[in-house]
Amino acid sequence: MLFRQLFDKASSTYTYLLAASDKAIIIDPVIDRISQYEKLFNELGLKLAIAIDTHMHADHITATGQLREKYGCEIAMGAETLAENITRRLSDGDVIELDGLEIKALHTPGHTKDSYSFLMDDRVFTGDTLFIRGSGRTDFDDGNPVEAYNSIFNKLLALPENTLLYPGHDYNGMTVSTIGEEKKHNPRLQVTSEQEYADIMNHLNLPQPKLAHIAIPSNLKCGLEKTMETEHE
Ligand code: FE
Repeated sequence: MLFRQLFDKASSTYTYLLAASDKAIIIDPVIDRISQYEKLFNELGLKLAIAIDTHMHADHITATGQLREKYGCEIAMGAETLAENITRRLSDGDVIELDGLEIKALHTPGHTKDSYSFLMDDRVFTGDTLFIRGSGRTDFDDGNPVEAYNSIFNKLLALPENTLLYPGHDYNGMTVSTIGEEKKHNPRLQVTSEQEYADIMNHLNLPQPKLAHIAIPSNLKCGLEKTMETEHE
């Protein structure tokens, strides 16, 4: 299997490229990195089939819309999203299959209502639900710390302890962890109740993402200025 972890320094975003044949899936692509993806697809002989966003991002503009225009790939996101131009709306438990790849969608709301994690074999892509030694903020309009607690404790931490954890961002130079490692060492997870977790999350006092006023309106259309006419909608 082909697996690549790509990093956008400006937004500290991880993008994942997966393939078991010449057809590829990309998770959380960033608009400013499209030429890098294009080069990599060409070098590795890949055709992009599906672009997934783990949730509607507030800190960078997604590349999914432009990738669809270039490659005709599907755009997959959780059914709860407010984004337009989605060609495949996912629900909890849905499985995305592509030439030997099997990726299960887990609805993990809390950072946003449309937050999903994606489980593939021995690894889980957690978007902004769970980070390495951290977790996604829950103070956006559609965020909810109690939902985040349930998503993390009842879904993600219920996975086998040796499951590899690949987050949507990292701000500290970490690339991969495991569920067991985070249970033990993630400071946000050393709580005994959802209320204790909510108290931590409600007192983080984080500034709004610098690009939120640009990224959110743009991501409502998957990074395009217009609403696409898709064959699927
Ligand atoms: Fe986010």
